[in-house]
Amino acid sequence: MTAREWLQKAKKEKFAIGAFNVGNLETFKAIVLASANKKSPIIIETSPGETDWLGEDNIVDLAKNYSQDYGVPILVNLDHAGSLAECILAIEAGFDLIHFDGSKLPLEENIKIAKEVVELAHQKGILVEGEMDHIAGSSEIHQGSAETAIKNIPMTDPENAAQFVTETGINILAVFVGNAHGIFSEGGENLDLDRLQNIARTTNCYLSLHGGSGVPEDQVKEAIKYGIVKVNINTEMRQAFKKELTEVLANNPDEIAMYKLEQPVVESIQKVVEIKIEEFGSGGKIYG
Ligand SMILES: [Zn+2]
Repeated sequence: MTAREWLQKAKKEKFAIGAFNVGNLETFKAIVLASANKKSPIIIETSPGETDWLGEDNIVDLAKNYSQDYGVPILVNLDHAGSLAECILAIEAGFDLIHFDGSKLPLEENIKIAKEVVELAHQKGILVEGEMDHIAGSSEIHQGSAETAIKNIPMTDPENAAQFVTETGINILAVFVGNAHGIFSEGGENLDLDRLQNIARTTNCYLSLHGGSGVPEDQVKEAIKYGIVKVNINTEMRQAFKKELTEVLANNPDEIAMYKLEQPVVESIQKVVEIKIEEFGSGGKIYG
């Protein structure tokens, strides 16, 4: 099934596909094992930094190999690309989805580049995600509460969003409705679900939720009911990676075989992904 068909299915059946960031092979493997175990479609995604680290051709080939080996559908997404050049690299490498994030640019420039990305991507059947209102934070642990951090940032306006989608031709809109990247030490991430519902009504395109880490589970589930079909997860996997690796290294001072040290790290990340798959309702969807 193509990315378009998977998103259609998700929208119709009211589940979301997890988009999990990979920064190394172990994370990639952990996500694939979770997908196979839960029989869930998955989106593997890399930021421009992660893409550069792993290599765009390697990412596409790894996805293809793992997909065949484990019999699971894997879509590949470029996450938060900030330039046309980064998008072109991924389009040429054969990614399934491209997220062009022009939210820090003046709106006109954002629209202009998004249109160019859409034109190039659609020629190859690749779907494009756009972002108009910058989603605050980064994939790390922040001190304080999300509420305080984002209180002065305007959220996505349903009418403006509809215009943005029409003008650019994007397939997916990354909404800002109280979500923020990363995890906040005092919590406080609350979604404006009425606003989300209105955006779903006015835009009639697929919607994604960034900063999925740290949003309370019941709110994520509600958001999926209101039209979110893709939820991005990064921080919680990074946390699991570092915590487990630190412990393994401390507990096994004489072990130097990397793959043996990495086994519990993979298991630890896999657990995080499996919990998210349950939350998103995508388990079992491979078979119907
Ligand atoms: Zn994001």
